[in-house]
Amino acid sequence: MRVVVAGGAGFVGSHLCDALLARGDDVIALDNLSTGSVENLKAAGEHERFSLVECDVAREVPVLGAVDAVLHLASPASPPAYLAMPLETLAVGSEGTRRLLELAAGSSARFVLASTSEVYGDPLEHPQREEYWGNVNPIGPRSVYDESKRFAEALTFAHHRALDAAIGIARIFNTYGPRLSPGDGRVVSTFIAQALRGDPLTVFGDGSQTRSLCYVSDLVAGLIALLDTDVIGPVNLGNPLEFTVLEIAQRVLEATGSASTIVYDALPTDDPTRRRPDIARAAALLGWSPVVSFETGLARTIEYFRSIVL
Ligand code: NAD
Ligand code: UDP
Repeated sequence: MRVVVAGGAGFVGSHLCDALLARGDDVIALDNLSTGSVENLKAAGEHERFSLVECDVAREVPVLGAVDAVLHLASPASPPAYLAMPLETLAVGSEGTRRLLELAAGSSARFVLASTSEVYGDPLEHPQREEYWGNVNPIGPRSVYDESKRFAEALTFAHHRALDAAIGIARIFNTYGPRLSPGDGRVVSTFIAQALRGDPLTVFGDGSQTRSLCYVSDLVAGLIALLDTDVIGPVNLGNPLEFTVLEIAQRVLEATGSASTIVYDALPTDDPTRRRPDIARAAALLGWSPVVSFETGLARTIEYFRSIVL
């Protein structure tokens, strides 16, 4: 297949490019390098079936010739990144999604959207099933990301209903692993970087809020399973193993052997209280479930962070 990965230089996108290349696909990554990096594509870049086109997909999508699939992962994803780029985040979810849907339509290609658990907002149902409509503050600071993804889902579904587009929507829950950027402010990357530097771990609020953490190779396997079917979704992709943020800090301290302390900072506005995917739909329709334990995934991520300059 000739596959376009928008956001291919990012954390998840670069692992996805590697996996698609490994199975024989031709891969074209589109990325404006706003939060991703060429370094993430070091292995992919050595492949003759790979190319990177530097562009802002909200403004232009310069892909020539027929393609078989378009995967849309382009978007700032960590809260500090999307809060610093509010208009760009809304643009890539709206205009970027429209341009990539049109690219796919030009070749009758399958379009896969990387949506997010954040469409459930601060969920009143637990765990979150795909039928749940969510609890999102439409004007709060996080809305630039949440509503951008909700609009992207609506636009993708409208193209399916009105234009018969072949679509698949993944609602991705918190994912971690090598190539997370140490300065991106996300919980696992921040805690590991702080622990390895010997700095205090910054727990926001009292640390009782929960997240469910999925290792990146599991997520990529789920995205490829979705790509290879005609399942429309939305389908939750995540690991139902749920931890409090304080537990995540403690597990990072244990796994790194760090003597860092824990300090408490203010909870960000609208920070969701609980989050855990119900993955019954992914299991039934894609035959997918995560297989990497938190111990193993955390050890691999720490090994990566030890190998880079922090
Ligand atoms: P990331 O920031 O590492 O990757 C996003 C990539 O998109 C970056 O390489 C960035 O440079 C690129 N990008 C951003 N705006 C762009 C634009 N206008 N044009 C072209 N490229 C652009 O984030 P990630 O964790 O790899 O997330 C990938 C996707 O998965 C995102 O869409 C994100 O919303 C979604 N997602 C991720 C998680 C997670 O936990 N990692 C959870 C839910 C959803
Ligand atoms: N968090 C934290 N300290 C940090 C970074 C994040 O306590 O240095 C918390 C954050 O408040 C949230 C959880 O960890 O409750 C997950 O945050 P992240 O930014 O990784 O992703 P989110 O799920 O909020 O998009």
